[in-house]
Amino acid sequence: MTSAWVEPPDWVRAHAPAKINLSLRAGSPRSDGYHPLVTVFQAVSLFEEVTATADDDVRVTVSGEQADRVPTDESNLAVRAARLLARRAGITDGVHLHLSKAVPVAGGMAGGSADAAATLVAVDELWGTGASRDDLLDLARELGADVPFALVGHTAVGTGRGDVLTPAMVRGEFHWVLALSDHGLSTPAVFGALDRLRDGAHVEPNPEADVAVMQALRSGDPHQLGEALHNDLEPAALHLAPRLAAVQAAARDAGALGVVVSGSGPTVAALARSESHAKIVATTLTLAGVADRLLVATGPAPGARLLP
Ligand code: ATP
Repeated sequence: MTSAWVEPPDWVRAHAPAKINLSLRAGSPRSDGYHPLVTVFQAVSLFEEVTATADDDVRVTVSGEQADRVPTDESNLAVRAARLLARRAGITDGVHLHLSKAVPVAGGMAGGSADAAATLVAVDELWGTGASRDDLLDLARELGADVPFALVGHTAVGTGRGDVLTPAMVRGEFHWVLALSDHGLSTPAVFGALDRLRDGAHVEPNPEADVAVMQALRSGDPHQLGEALHNDLEPAALHLAPRLAAVQAAARDAGALGVVVSGSGPTVAALARSESHAKIVATTLTLAGVADRLLVATGPAPGARLLP
């Protein structure tokens, strides 16, 4: 057998999904300030796309959803992902990363984490580093708590900082309406508000996985899932962005089976009965004028992967 040398590609494209949190329970903060979390993530069909092209240095450009709010310096999570893989693999090449954003910035849907996950997959291919999925997961964990989930996608329970993942059993598909706000919420600010609101109250230090959500996912019944949606951060997000209460009320009035703030917000996720029902709920919310933008998406969606 002869083996041919394969020329590395000049450019590679990859995408990674946004997430919503079907359940999020936060314990009291540890000494390092992190809140132990038990969360159920679901990846949804809203994808960040990264094009990685060979270049002299690592640099990033951004287009699409709220591109002007994304830093293009060394703090960009995609740049950090490329630099981390280069360092670990001993690569001295650069890369031009172009991020085509579909996920709202600071929306509680982990768009930056999806950029980082798609970048890991793309530059691994571009540079031919041959990292295993486990190697990429280790790098993802170093980059941020939500990056590992963007790599694996589908539906998973996250513990620790949300970064230790166990796949969840899911039957069927769920149809979501996502009500977006133009003004993002900072995740640390939401956790800070949570601590202030909880002041003096007894909080379970290590919360347990949400049995009702797990059962609903196994049954595939959107009514059950709608009732089980839960987010401990919701009161804090509503405290910082009171207008979200009107979005939630309008979604319930429009017939949503359940409504929850995703992660640290301000995105509100409303569960519909079907794809056509999701479109009806989205249209009703648009007419009510309560959200800045509305999207429909399905979950679960696959994790970060190369595009042809
Ligand atoms: P999470 O739900 O994981 O807390 P989020 O969806 O609320 O995240 P992101 O859109 O991931 O928020 O970004 C949060 C902040 O991170 C932004 O305000 C921005 O300053 C910074 N950031 C760094 N890199 C990126 C990136 N590639 N895309 C978007 N924001 C980025």
